[in-house]
Amino acid sequence: MSKVSIVKCDSYDREKVYQAVVKACEHSSFPEVQGKKILIKPNILSDSPSEKAITTNPEILRAMIKYVKTKGATSIVVGDSPALHKHGLKPTKSGLYQICEEEGVEWVNFLKGNFKIKLPILEKKITLTSTINDIDLLITLPKFKTHELMITTGALKNQFGLVPGFHKSPQHVKYPRRDDFAKLICGIHTQSKAAFALMDAIIGMEGSGPGNGTPRNIGILIASNDLLAVDIAQATIMGHNPMDIPVIKCGILNKISDTTKFEDMDYTDINANDIILEDYKRINPNKKSNNGDRVKPTFIPEKCILCKKCINICPASALSLVNKKIILNEDKCVMCYCCHEVCPAEAIEIRN
Ligand code: SF4
Ligand code: SF4
Repeated sequence: MSKVSIVKCDSYDREKVYQAVVKACEHSSFPEVQGKKILIKPNILSDSPSEKAITTNPEILRAMIKYVKTKGATSIVVGDSPALHKHGLKPTKSGLYQICEEEGVEWVNFLKGNFKIKLPILEKKITLTSTINDIDLLITLPKFKTHELMITTGALKNQFGLVPGFHKSPQHVKYPRRDDFAKLICGIHTQSKAAFALMDAIIGMEGSGPGNGTPRNIGILIASNDLLAVDIAQATIMGHNPMDIPVIKCGILNKISDTTKFEDMDYTDINANDIILEDYKRINPNKKSNNGDRVKPTFIPEKCILCKKCINICPASALSLVNKKIILNEDKCVMCYCCHEVCPAEAIEIRN
């Protein structure tokens, strides 16, 4: 049975967060870390100010580093690889890099080395950062957010950050269907040494996530040694049937954890079913265009600042800049929404 701890915490006050993190960890089968090398992986979709709720809040990272130190880890490193990842990335806008410096732990560059591995479930090869070969355990710190492509992004989806930056977006061309992309995520998870997830849901994101939604006070942390169970709790609180979330469905069908039925979860503190946010602005898993496909992105010229981030990330080469406007080639678009994730100006919408 997977223990899931949902703990209340109403602000990012340093001491409050630490006390809540300790409680969440101690009520949810925190792994043995003594004498081990630990990678802590926040979610840095794009290095942005923490009040935008795009990244894991830096105080969550600080609290986890402190907690892992008290449990006797030999060494702690911190890293992630956003889709637009340049060598030498130091996430200072989010404040995550400063926490590493203040706590005396190394920020690792996921682009430094990589290796190819054939993933179970997907049965295809992928490139992962070699950082995971240098560690004993991974602790992931996802953010409670919506996701236009995968409906939610949580503990399992955060594992996609183990694919080094520029290797990410081509995966959307190879696996454009949600179910196949979910197999990719679950396959990566099985190779990741992930031993614990602590989800930052003090302030989450609703609406058009993961990069362009609205911050939403939720006031909790969700923790478990079972990443799938954390995602089920998150989906439940958002008001979804968890089986509508492709990654959760794939994880259950492929038995990636002890949770094969929702009854397998033991809520040690608050039960997710008791705190469902009925008015949460969630992504409709059945959102389709008139012809039955997923919807293609819409570009809003008045908001566009012509930064070209969408063009650079697009794995299908479906975008071009013509007469100071972003033009979409609809025939090429695979509806991965990477452009929407990286747009800094809310100039791309995923409309019904
Ligand atoms: S235009 Fe956007 S949604 Fe379409 S393939 Fe390119 S990045 Fe993906
Ligand atoms: S990423 Fe957004 S702001 Fe930048 S060029 Fe594309 S649409 Fe315009």
